[in-house]
Parts: sequence; C-alpha cells; structure tokens
Amino acid sequence: MIANFPDMIAGSLNLSEPWYVEGAEFSPEKKEVHIYVNVREGAEFACPSCGGATVRNGYEPTERVWRHGDCLFYPSFVHCKRPRVRCPHCGTKQISAPFERKNSRFTLLFEGYAMLILADMPRAKAAEILRCNEKSLSAILSYWVNEAVSRQDLKGLVRLAVDETSRLRGHDYVTVFVDADRRRVIDVEQGREKSVISTFAEKLEKHGGSKEAVCAVTSDMSKSYLPGIAENFPNALSVIDKFHVKQILTNALDMVRKEEQKSSEAKQALFQGRRLFMIPRGRMSEQQVAKLDSLSKRYPKTGKAYSIVAALDDFYACYTVEEARNAFDSLYSWMRRCR
Ligand SMILES: [Zn+2]
Repeated sequence: MIANFPDMIAGSLNLSEPWYVEGAEFSPEKKEVHIYVNVREGAEFACPSCGGATVRNGYEPTERVWRHGDCLFYPSFVHCKRPRVRCPHCGTKQISAPFERKNSRFTLLFEGYAMLILADMPRAKAAEILRCNEKSLSAILSYWVNEAVSRQDLKGLVRLAVDETSRLRGHDYVTVFVDADRRRVIDVEQGREKSVISTFAEKLEKHGGSKEAVCAVTSDMSKSYLPGIAENFPNALSVIDKFHVKQILTNALDMVRKEEQKSSEAKQALFQGRRLFMIPRGRMSEQQVAKLDSLSKRYPKTGKAYSIVAALDDFYACYTVEEARNAFDSLYSWMRRCR
C-alpha cells in the first residue's frame, strides 16, 4: 500500500488546509475510483466577491461530482459538498473548490491532461482514450483556447501571413493569421472577405500589437485580402505567398501538357508521366530524372514549361537580393519570349 496515498490524491486536487481528502474507495462493480473531499469544521473563508471577512453558512445542499484524472487507469470521480459563507456586504456566497473551474464537471487536472491529448489527435479519438463524450471535450477545448487567445500578447508582431482554408472539408472558409517569425497561428476568422483583415487588425491593437509596426504581410492574390492589407497595414510590404505563385505556374504547365498530349501521337506516355512534371527536380530519384529528361525531349513544349517552373524554384532558393533580382529578370524575359 502507498503510505502517503491521501497526500498524493490531495496533491492531484491542489488541496491544502482547510481542504482535505476524507476518504477514497474503489468500486469493483463500476470499476471506478471515488474520492471524497471536505473542509475542516470551523474553517474560515474570505468572501469570493469582495475579499472581506465572512461567517460560515454550512454547505451547498447537494453533493457535486467532478471527473478526475484516472487512478491506475480507472476513471476517478471527486465528490464534494462545497462550503458556503455569509458576507455582511454580499450575502450568501459559494466557495469554489481548489480543483475546479467554474461550471465544469471536470477537475483542472483532467482538463489539463485532456488538452495535452487533444493537441495530438482528433476529438473523437481523444474522447475514446479519455473515456468521456466528445461534447464535453469540445467545451474544455473552447474554454482553454479562448482563455489563451484572450491573454495573447501580440506586441512585436512585424511579419504576418494570411491564408484561407476550408473548414470541415466543405466550402465553409476561414482565414488563418500567422505570426511569420514565431511560426504560430494567432487568429482564425470566419470567412475570407476583405472585412476579416480589419477584424484582425482591431484584435491586434487590442492585444498590444500595432498596425503601423507590421512591415510585411504574405497572402495569396485574392481581391479581398490585398485591398484589406493595404488599408489596414499602411507600412506593410504586400508579399505574394510563393506557393500561390508556384500554383499558377504549375497550372499553366498542366495546360501546356494537356495541349501537347492532344496533338501528340503518343498520348499515353505523356499522360502516364504527368505526375512526374509536378515533382521538383531536387526531390526526384535518379530514375525519375532520367524519365523526365526523355519525356521532355519527346514533348519539347511540356519540357520547356517544366524548366520554367524549375527556374522559379531556383529563384526562390536565392540567398541574396542581387542574386534573386538576376534570377527573376532572366526568368521573366524567358517567360515573355515563350508566350
Ligand atoms: Zn463580500
């Protein structure tokens, strides 16, 4: 038997005098652990509203139960009738237990563990592991996320990245805001209209940041983001996200490939090799490079379009402004000649 088992339980519940563990039992039928918490007779509490002196006024009428962290893999529950006090200024007040968050049926330890699990897996899986329902987990998740977001310090935000993504695999779009230096998501707004940029800009100011301090904003080429960025971040350089630039070029490459495929006699070879043209050269195996080179010779238009996409990758790989400028100029004039 663990000699200081009650201390261990009390520690997990953040209990200190006058709170104490009155007892604990294992229910073999339900396969659950039940822990009973109480406060010392005659213990005094300050008024939870005004902090002034109070007199004890018994307990709440019905016992409350909270789900606690598992004990040896058995689900554990904490039972307590919390004390009440009477304040001369505020009337009768309920004292909160040290292990609870207001309006939650879970202890703080359980919620902390649930948040750790939720960081690594979908809600349904987490609910299965934690043996609780998904709805409760959603409530825990939104409470702590909102709590963290409301305390967020956005002072020092200088480089911002904005992008849209769809929610729940549908056409329900959200806009994600990322601190590009700290590589952290700092806000998510419903929709992808111009107004989401001003909504974020207001939040930024409320959380210690400054619109004027933002020196660069990365986004796609959307007609809603770009004017929103120009209006709200007067000192920011508008940067087009390289993945969106690359996407335009790869879409064009695909069009060239389809066109050449149509007019070619050996349609099948090009069609079969179509995915090869989507792989950056640096990530290809020797075999893939050889196959691509032979396809490029056979289908020169697609081959040339592929080389242009590859040149864009080289441009983005440049280390100095000078180097990048030269790479861009030659890429640009090459593309113009190819029209
Ligand atoms: Zn009071």
